[in-house]
Amino acid sequence: MSDDGDTAERKMQFLFALRSRGVTDARVLTAMERVDRAPFVRGIFADRTYEDMPLPIACGQTISQPSVVGLMTQALNVQPRDKVLEVGTGSGYQAAILSQLARRVYTVDRYRRLVREAQAIFDEMGLVNITAVTADGSFGLPDQAPFDRILVTAAAEDPPGPLLAQLKIGGIMVLPVGQSDTVQSLIRVTRNEDGFDYDELRPVRFVPLVEGLGREE
Ligand code: SAH
Repeated sequence: MSDDGDTAERKMQFLFALRSRGVTDARVLTAMERVDRAPFVRGIFADRTYEDMPLPIACGQTISQPSVVGLMTQALNVQPRDKVLEVGTGSGYQAAILSQLARRVYTVDRYRRLVREAQAIFDEMGLVNITAVTADGSFGLPDQAPFDRILVTAAAEDPPGPLLAQLKIGGIMVLPVGQSDTVQSLIRVTRNEDGFDYDELRPVRFVPLVEGLGREE
């Protein structure tokens, strides 16, 4: 176990690593400084909390690499009044970062257990503007649509139609696209009056977006 001084040093290195990997937006860095990653990483990987790497979580899923969380959040350009949808709650870490920047965050996962555990951490941290829902996020969240911003943290072959349809005009969606067992592309989709603009941002690797609800272990 590390003492407090050690933890402070690791947190400084964590923020330094984010900056050196291109996370430069001051609001995103402040959010990542405020939201401790520790409650979202459990068990044997706890001592790797402040390393810039993805780590295994329950249900065979992963908590994303912090610099990728930062770069995706930055690309999403969240505004204070935004209503944001995240598909792929996982540990809840990305949703917690978004909650610092947006008015309201809805996050969905196909595993009930992940949603329940993430919601418990949000409650404990007092993050009252996040709602976690168990659902197949490839259909979005029709009851709460449309959204100013949508972030997908699992890879689909193409942007799911329902998510495109639930994006406001002027809205932005960031998502990895490509086959699940290869390197995927992180893309940004911007909806305008006449349709959608697509930008390719960088190569990434995410677990696949899978249809239907997850079978609990
Ligand atoms: N954003 C997470 C990491 C996500 S890992 C974090 O910050 O920790 C990807 C998550 O997407 C997994 O938890 C997986 O269960 C979920 N997922 C995959 N397909 C899905 C779907 N169709 N609907 C909702 N969630 C899905």
